[in-house]
Amino acid sequence: MNRLQQILESGNEVFNHVPFPMMLTTKEGIVLWWSREAEKTFGYRAEEVVGQFYPFIEEEKSAMHKATWDQVLRSIDPIRFEDFLLHTKQGEEVHVSAVLKSLTIDNERCVMFLFEQYNSPITNDTTGAQELASIKNGLDQTFMLTYIDEEGLIIYANDLFLKTSKWTPKRVVGKSFWQLFPPGTGEMFANTIWTSLKSNRVWQGSVEKITKDGETYWVEMTAIPVTASSNDTMYYCILEKDITEKKRLQTHLEQIAYVDPETNLMNRHRLEYIVSNFIEEKRHFSFVFLDIDKFFTLKDMHDEDSETTLLLEFAKRMKMYFQDSDIARVGVDEFVVLTPLSEWFIQGFLTYLKQHPIYIRNTAIPISISGGITRYPEDQSTFLHLMKASNATIHKVKQDGGGNIVSLSKSTHQALSRKLTIEKRLIEALHHKDLQVYYQPQLDVRSGSIHTVEALVRWEDEVLGTVHPNELIPIAEESGMIHDIGTFMLEQSCKQAAIWQKEGRPLKVSINSSVREFRDHNMVKKIRQTLEKYSCPAHLLQIEITEKFALEAEAEQSIIRQMRLLQQDGVAFVLDDFGTGYASFRYMQLLPISELKIDQSFISSIMQQEKLQKLVHGMIQFGKSMSIRVLAEGVETMEQFELLKELGCDALQGYYIGHPVTSDDLEQTISSKNS
Ligand code: C2E
Ligand code: CA
Ligand code: CA
Repeated sequence: MNRLQQILESGNEVFNHVPFPMMLTTKEGIVLWWSREAEKTFGYRAEEVVGQFYPFIEEEKSAMHKATWDQVLRSIDPIRFEDFLLHTKQGEEVHVSAVLKSLTIDNERCVMFLFEQYNSPITNDTTGAQELASIKNGLDQTFMLTYIDEEGLIIYANDLFLKTSKWTPKRVVGKSFWQLFPPGTGEMFANTIWTSLKSNRVWQGSVEKITKDGETYWVEMTAIPVTASSNDTMYYCILEKDITEKKRLQTHLEQIAYVDPETNLMNRHRLEYIVSNFIEEKRHFSFVFLDIDKFFTLKDMHDEDSETTLLLEFAKRMKMYFQDSDIARVGVDEFVVLTPLSEWFIQGFLTYLKQHPIYIRNTAIPISISGGITRYPEDQSTFLHLMKASNATIHKVKQDGGGNIVSLSKSTHQALSRKLTIEKRLIEALHHKDLQVYYQPQLDVRSGSIHTVEALVRWEDEVLGTVHPNELIPIAEESGMIHDIGTFMLEQSCKQAAIWQKEGRPLKVSINSSVREFRDHNMVKKIRQTLEKYSCPAHLLQIEITEKFALEAEAEQSIIRQMRLLQQDGVAFVLDDFGTGYASFRYMQLLPISELKIDQSFISSIMQQEKLQKLVHGMIQFGKSMSIRVLAEGVETMEQFELLKELGCDALQGYYIGHPVTSDDLEQTISSKNS
């Protein structure tokens, strides 16, 4: 030890000229020598530290460094440690790096410390650089990091990048930025990123890349343009995080949420999403709705396996024919294709299906489909409306026998032109009194005979064929021709009622009336005049109004007044289609109603549903409580007939009693019933 002391003392002069703080310790860390520069930097004088455990590192920290210390002792080469935080005697922090070199003096292992100061404890202006250094350090450990020069060539890549991209450091330097992306869309992305960097903007997003071996991986990327402070040149710093696993999971979830598992086509949710994107982008497209005709019959003929085959094969044909179009399965046998292609091309799919039949067990299955083409933005402007319009078109196509793809505009044009034809020809028919009245008998339960018949309009046109009242009446109401139909029916009914009375078997005639007719203030006058014209007693006329009529009448005093006047004359009013609208006690009390007709929709399934029986029973009780007669219409079977009688109906109408027939044919029905 003495000898060591001597060496140190003689060396003192030499070492004290080194412009860095230095110290020498034993292998246990006891300070042997402390330089003058160390005194200046750390504030401890040599007498204070020599023979002590070095004072400026806290003890628990030095314990943590035990492993490194051992390494220092064993090594022959000097070891450099970056960024130590030490404390001066005054308690200030000093950032230093240290070079440690172990040496043996006099058989004693010693360690020489040489400190380099990062910053002086007093001045702060280099703290920024220090912070940057630690940020860079942190980034380097968590991100893939590459630097690209102004030409787009890689100048640096960190370990994480090399590990993921499988490049070696030597090979990757000098490669172009574009080489890191897959061909096609990847290159497009690379161009976007590059343009952004070139215009000095940070780019951020997820993007697909390729490894050296051509495998793809996904990263979340932040690309930052940087100006080098040394020479003002630009370079680009690219930070990336591998998100391949996350992306894979996401795709999997999307698969579950957006893909139809049976056909692998997208499902309705995905379609809705895509359509709203198209709409947002103001893209023009046709929304083609395809529906396999009689799918359920086809399916029943075979088994579940062939059902799957059928669907898969059908989907395959759609994909082949409508290449590059978006195809979705929206129902069991319903599909939607989004395409910019023309109508004739879309319709060509029918021929394509014929040319490429689907075979199940070596038999070609005759598949026919119905389709509707609705265009955006010409025909409809939202997903919901596109769907609705398609359903309406398909419905129409199916009614016409299926096997056709029709565009919405065409089918509505057809409907429109049919409507116009009806209006045109109806004027003629009314002029020539070409309409007919059919009479349907109503059976009075108590007497078991027929006292009343309902008058129903019939129109057989040369061009249009039979036009059903359900189609005719709404058109007539819209065009105002309902007044003429009403007048015609009223005239014919009064005339006929008078004839039957004269023949000695009086029958009450019940005519249907629309609220529009009663808005005519001359309604009372018109009815009175007609009754008079044919010498028909008022009590032989009955008027059926619907609940909708009643609801509107309630708000229109003039209608109620007219009804009351007619009632005083002896004309009875019947509330038709009872139960389908807004049956309200109020208007039952307000309006002069003497009978209500339970709608046929209740009667048609009354035998199957006990609930309906209770409901109908309730309606009958309701009528009785208000002293109103109750009739049930649409009675088709004996069972219904017996049940309704038992439930207490006053009168019954329906095919079981008699179909609507001409006045001549009615006589037969009545004589058979009334006898
Ligand atoms: P509504 O007044 O409810 O007439 C009853 C409808 O049911 C009639 O159809 C009739 O033929 C039918 N029907 C009768 N018994 C049965 C049965 O047992 N089973 C089934 N399934 N149906 C039965 P129609 O003649 O086709 O008339 C349809 C609707 O058109 C009428 O319904 C009525 O609201 C309206 N309508 C008919 N003629 C006239 C009219 O001259 N003027 C006005 N304003 N509307 C009329
Ligand atoms: Ca009716
Ligand atoms: Ca009815």
